[in-house]
Amino acid sequence: MRYLPLFRDIDGRDCLVVGGGTVAFRKVRLLLRAGGRVVVIAPSVSDKLLPFGETNNIELIFRPFEADDVAGRVLVIAATGDRAVNAAVSAAARKIGVPVNVVDDATLSDVVMPAIIDRNPLIVAISSGGAAPVLARNIRAAIEAMLPANLGRLAETAQSLRAQVRQRLTDPVKRLRFWEHYFLGWRSGAAGIAIEEFGRPANDGQVAIVGAGPGDPDLLTLKALQRLQDADVIIHDRLVGPGILDYARRDADLINVGKTPGRHGHSQDEINALLAHHAGQGKRVVRLKGGDPFIFGRGGEEQAYLKARGFRVEIVPGITAALGCASAGGIPLTHRGTAQAVTLLTGTAGGNLPDLDWTAIAATKATLAVYMGVGTAGALRDNLIAAGADPATPVAIIENGTLESERITTGQLHELAALVESNAVRAPALLIIGEVVAVAAAAVGSTPADLALVS
Ligand code: SAH
Repeated sequence: MRYLPLFRDIDGRDCLVVGGGTVAFRKVRLLLRAGGRVVVIAPSVSDKLLPFGETNNIELIFRPFEADDVAGRVLVIAATGDRAVNAAVSAAARKIGVPVNVVDDATLSDVVMPAIIDRNPLIVAISSGGAAPVLARNIRAAIEAMLPANLGRLAETAQSLRAQVRQRLTDPVKRLRFWEHYFLGWRSGAAGIAIEEFGRPANDGQVAIVGAGPGDPDLLTLKALQRLQDADVIIHDRLVGPGILDYARRDADLINVGKTPGRHGHSQDEINALLAHHAGQGKRVVRLKGGDPFIFGRGGEEQAYLKARGFRVEIVPGITAALGCASAGGIPLTHRGTAQAVTLLTGTAGGNLPDLDWTAIAATKATLAVYMGVGTAGALRDNLIAAGADPATPVAIIENGTLESERITTGQLHELAALVESNAVRAPALLIIGEVVAVAAAAVGSTPADLALVS
């Protein structure tokens, strides 16, 4: 390491800036932000610096730099743009051991200025040691985008709690756990444990019920990604693809509770108990589900179970299969003049087609997005047509939507079951029924039957 990073307290201390141009002005403002008492020495100063200096209590001395000027300063910055003057400033400062920075000249500098992200009191400083300042700035921009604006307030609140926490939680391990929980939500700028929870045992667990989206890992939300990366335990369904689980920490405990061929999945009671068991140990538990947890995902049941037992529950929404599959097929679920509503429904309830008001469903002319409808496609077709739906209504069957193995089959409502059978359609598949399927085909200048080819 060429430079030792450290943070210098300059509050109320004398700092010298040599030079009066734009660059000097920037340095003056930076020093002021950290509370420095700034003296500027230059034969003349810019139009901006002059009024700024007057309103901000900066001492402006209008003459050339002299070697004695560095005496008594905690920091000297040379920003004259004149290498001879800068070298003189550097030499004078070095002679008496005052840290000196010469703008854009690492060889004349003892200290270099980092690129800064200011979430006071949280400061991130990035330096390439003068080797690649633009790279440092790019990295700053990338990190800046990751950090919520109110991170400073989070740090300030934590600071105000420190003494109290130290007093109330004497066990250092419990204290550490407290702070870990407190900062759990730092990415959203929120305190993980509110102050009212202070008195509760430090092993209080929390569960995030997270939607993993339809399959493509890039369709995870940022929040889902953050929860995955934080989790100690991830309890997931089979439909959650391996590409998504790759985002888990390497030491996280991954538990598959989904049905796999030849093996029964866990019952909902078992899953609930598993969630409570791990959360009760104070672990960060993520319950990861395909699509959205509140759309045919039993997220509501798990939430109720956990809340009844006093756990904190956070719901992180995901892109539900209907949205993922519609996008994959280029099928707008609503379309001006064609479909004014969209209905999400399940094709399976207790093994059969659910007992819905099919007449009402057919009458709305809404686009239908049918989950878990492969096994009951024949009954679905019969009920819809009997209820008055046009047998020629276009349909699309989207298998493994948004995944590499995605396949789209299209046809008409009257042949729905035949399409499933002749194409050996396998779950997970979503059925989209409605005129919008033809809109998608028209958009690419083909018939609905060609949609599978063009999508
Ligand atoms: N909570 C999930 C739905 C779970 S029910 C969500 O919001 O998407 C499981 C059903 O979702 C499957 O039977 C299938 O109909 C549908 N499904 C989930 N992922 C899918 C995918 N990638 N492609 C097609 N259908 C999918």
